[in-house]
Amino acid sequence: MAESNANWQFTNHYTKLPEKFFSRMALNPVREPKLVLFNESLAQELGLGALQEEIAIFAGNEAPENATPLAQAYAGHQFGHFTMLGDGRAILLGEHLTPEGNSVDIQLKGAGRTPYSRGGDGRAALGPMLREYIMSEAMHHLGIPTTRALAVVSTGEDVMREEVLEGAILTRVAASHLRVGTFQYAYQFGTDTDLSALVTYALETHYPEQIDQENSALTLLKAVIQHQASLIADWQLVGFVHGVMNTDNMTISGETIDYGPCAFLDTYDPEAVFSSIDRNGRYAYANQPAIAEWNLTRFAETLLPLLHDDEKEAVKIATETLYTFRKQYVENWLSGVRKKLGMDGEEAEDEQLVNELLALMEKYEADYTNTFLALTFQVFTGEVLFEAEAFENWLIKWKLRVRFDERSEALMMQMKQHNPAIIPRNYYVEEALQAATKHHNFTKVNELIEATKNPYAHTNFQEKYKYPPK
Ligand code: AMP
Ligand code: MG
Repeated sequence: MAESNANWQFTNHYTKLPEKFFSRMALNPVREPKLVLFNESLAQELGLGALQEEIAIFAGNEAPENATPLAQAYAGHQFGHFTMLGDGRAILLGEHLTPEGNSVDIQLKGAGRTPYSRGGDGRAALGPMLREYIMSEAMHHLGIPTTRALAVVSTGEDVMREEVLEGAILTRVAASHLRVGTFQYAYQFGTDTDLSALVTYALETHYPEQIDQENSALTLLKAVIQHQASLIADWQLVGFVHGVMNTDNMTISGETIDYGPCAFLDTYDPEAVFSSIDRNGRYAYANQPAIAEWNLTRFAETLLPLLHDDEKEAVKIATETLYTFRKQYVENWLSGVRKKLGMDGEEAEDEQLVNELLALMEKYEADYTNTFLALTFQVFTGEVLFEAEAFENWLIKWKLRVRFDERSEALMMQMKQHNPAIIPRNYYVEEALQAATKHHNFTKVNELIEATKNPYAHTNFQEKYKYPPK
């Protein structure tokens, strides 16, 4: 047990679930852990105080008092194929209670082999863990629900990939790590009692205010649909492409999870794909709402035994409920894009006007983020789009819609709040990761993390991340 000054408050509710949902773990210590990144403000939020001395905990070399290290069991559809998965390289230390009374999972990603590792080594490389830190924190500061990053330690051990890489562990903080895949596991390998216990745990953890409703499974289904409809709209609005929306990477909490081959759009391209193995564009930018709906359908299927005793009736309830995803998604997206374009109220032609802009952006290969910034500040440089006559015409219609001449000041103020000055563009992320992994120089990583902390501040410091080299 660690000599810890930190104020860990572990509750460990997850261990009350039936044993088949997890495997208790001994820790897998690493040789020479070094703290590489530490999220001071998150530590404060969690009530943990200064934690620099807790390297042994972030390395998985020692467990904090009252922690119950375990690996979670889950299954999932990966690129459409159902597989048994589970935490193959992550250890959940436990659920920590924050000073505000919120429960959060503290998980070590890259903490060694578990019973779910299959052929894998259970480890993670420094580059991808730094990447998850940068991307998830940027996401959080954009105001989008996500898992958080508390620390990265390098392990002093090699990991073998296509080349030999430096090992690292990320301490990930999440509302929970329950996934659609956790329910698929319960449905496939458990009893109705197991499934029911999982539903109760999920409601207690994420939607406690809704716990007393008549049909728990239906309540949960509705809540997850609602939160995912909001999350996916948030992603589309900032141009985020998750890259691998497998059902094991879709949370029950509605947080973004698993930053693998994800990226933010530079050029607006609905077909943009960032996973090298996604040859059919299953997880392309424009396909994300449809894939979310597909994943939620898999989720609903797992709940059928609890939705109604009569299977036909259960399917009917699930289908009707799933229909609401599309509607909620479109409403969220439309409301968000109106804000980005400074449109007050709702007019019937709004969607048409937005789609005209998007079509022009696609045609002229305009940068997604910078086009909205150009409109915000009325500075039209750096894009071929801005010289097109069709864009001039669109601008006239838009100015009429937003009553530009009457309210240009207020309009700019409003649009600044909804159009980020900075997103973590792949070019800058990769540049920072190269410096960190090849030369152990973390200056660029730290600068990028700093610059993405307040994306709606529109500072000069953020300017330099605006134009990625073409
Ligand atoms: P991901 O692509 O990160 O969502 O992981 C998919 C599945 O592969 C999960 O069950 C992971 O735990 C597992 N996995 C990924 N990398 C490794 C690894 N290096 N060792 C063992 N399991 C892994
Ligand atoms: Mg995953």
